[in-house]
Amino acid sequence: MPAPDLDTIVSLSKRRGFIFPAAEIYGGFANTYDYGPLGVELKRNIREAWWRAMVRERDDVVGLDASLITHPSVWVASGHVATFNDPLVDCKKCQMRWRLDHIVEGQYGEVKRDAAGNVLCPNDNGELTEPRLFNLMFKTQVGTVADEGSVAYLPPETAQGIFINFENVVNSMRRKLPFGIAQTRVSFRNEITPGKFVFRTLEFEQMEMEYFCRPPKDRKNPVEYLALHRQWIDARLSWYRDVLGIDAARLRLRPHEKEELSHYSAGTTDIEYLFPWGWGELEGIAARTDFDLSAHAKQSGHPITYFDEETSEHLVPWVIEPAAGLTRTLAVCLIDAYSEEPDEKGDKRVVLRLRPNIAPIKVAVLPLSKNDALRPAARKVYDLIRPVWMTQYDETQSIGRRYRRQDEIGTPLCVTIDFQTVGEKGEPGDDAVTIRERDSQAQTRVPISGLLQALREKLPGC
Ligand code: ATP
Repeated sequence: MPAPDLDTIVSLSKRRGFIFPAAEIYGGFANTYDYGPLGVELKRNIREAWWRAMVRERDDVVGLDASLITHPSVWVASGHVATFNDPLVDCKKCQMRWRLDHIVEGQYGEVKRDAAGNVLCPNDNGELTEPRLFNLMFKTQVGTVADEGSVAYLPPETAQGIFINFENVVNSMRRKLPFGIAQTRVSFRNEITPGKFVFRTLEFEQMEMEYFCRPPKDRKNPVEYLALHRQWIDARLSWYRDVLGIDAARLRLRPHEKEELSHYSAGTTDIEYLFPWGWGELEGIAARTDFDLSAHAKQSGHPITYFDEETSEHLVPWVIEPAAGLTRTLAVCLIDAYSEEPDEKGDKRVVLRLRPNIAPIKVAVLPLSKNDALRPAARKVYDLIRPVWMTQYDETQSIGRRYRRQDEIGTPLCVTIDFQTVGEKGEPGDDAVTIRERDSQAQTRVPISGLLQALREKLPGC
């Protein structure tokens, strides 16, 4: 199915409790969103799937949760104070503000230029102002006196907290190279260009890992380092495909051109997704050499090295950094899972075909109708499942409409309790329920005594 348009996803997200525009009662607040009851579950499940793949299932990666308010020198060493800038231009005619790099990349369609070759406004071909550099970091103030010495920044990425804790982790966890440190956390960027839903927001969550390895034998031709970089690119791509179930045809790798790379970089490859508006970055896997650890050592005056017992020398490890956006990935999961199909009556059936491992609700318990005779058994089944999986109980409206509701939020399984379960007209019930599957709509009858086992088999990885 072609990608749904963004409005369809925005509207479903709000209607069904995934994502709400922030501060709506005050007229909204640009590029900020709140995650509703289902959004928060989906986000937790994606984060958990990442943590499982990056930390729990590996024996060479450990976790970290560094403070958000960071020593200002950290952002000097990392280069963010000096260079984390976007070139902004304003249209002299319609006053719209743009990022010049985005216009030039063709993000707003064909690039229009005047006779002298100057880029023109994508909205009305108006003349643009000279670009002004705008730092994306949010400033805050620590303490009661607002002066230069009290300035702190909210983190625009999670990586620096990892670098400045490198030595702590090596010493406390007795780590040997190669090993990684992983972190998931909120980041802040004062983005000024109009966002596309949660693709680009002021506050977003990232999932990052720094993988430290031995420096290559030949700095100019770091063959083994580049091979390791390749392994991480492949591992990360397969995570989107095989763990999140994202359509492989809508994923691609984009190695950065030489001109896009920083002077220290040995290469970066982005994993991109085909969004409704075109290809966009989901994750960057960067080969950052020893730049970050060396920069912090220089700025702090504190050498950051690793003692190699094999060679009895202190060395500065090289780093590979897979940096993913959690909230951007969440948008991809919604877009990619959305499908519409005709039902048996010719009406539209909307289904979110989310993998069970990330679906917010795994099982819905639905008595056939709102009836006192069904309720005790239905509540008993609900109490049985709830401690194991995220479960929803619903007895309002017709059963058909409730199935549709669950399809639309991606619930893989519904369990229905009917009069056969509880018995009718003096006849005993069979103590069995129906499991209805979201994708095939197939129904199977199982005894309540075997229900948990039957659900477990239908919910792999949950
Ligand atoms: P972009 O070019 O889209 O601004 P970037 O190259 O600046 O992204 P990185 O600094 O590499 O992004 O951050 C890693 C990941 O964090 C991105 O691939 C993306 O998934 C996510 N990310 C970055 N900025 C934002 C944002 N403003 N809102 C949501 N997610 C973001």
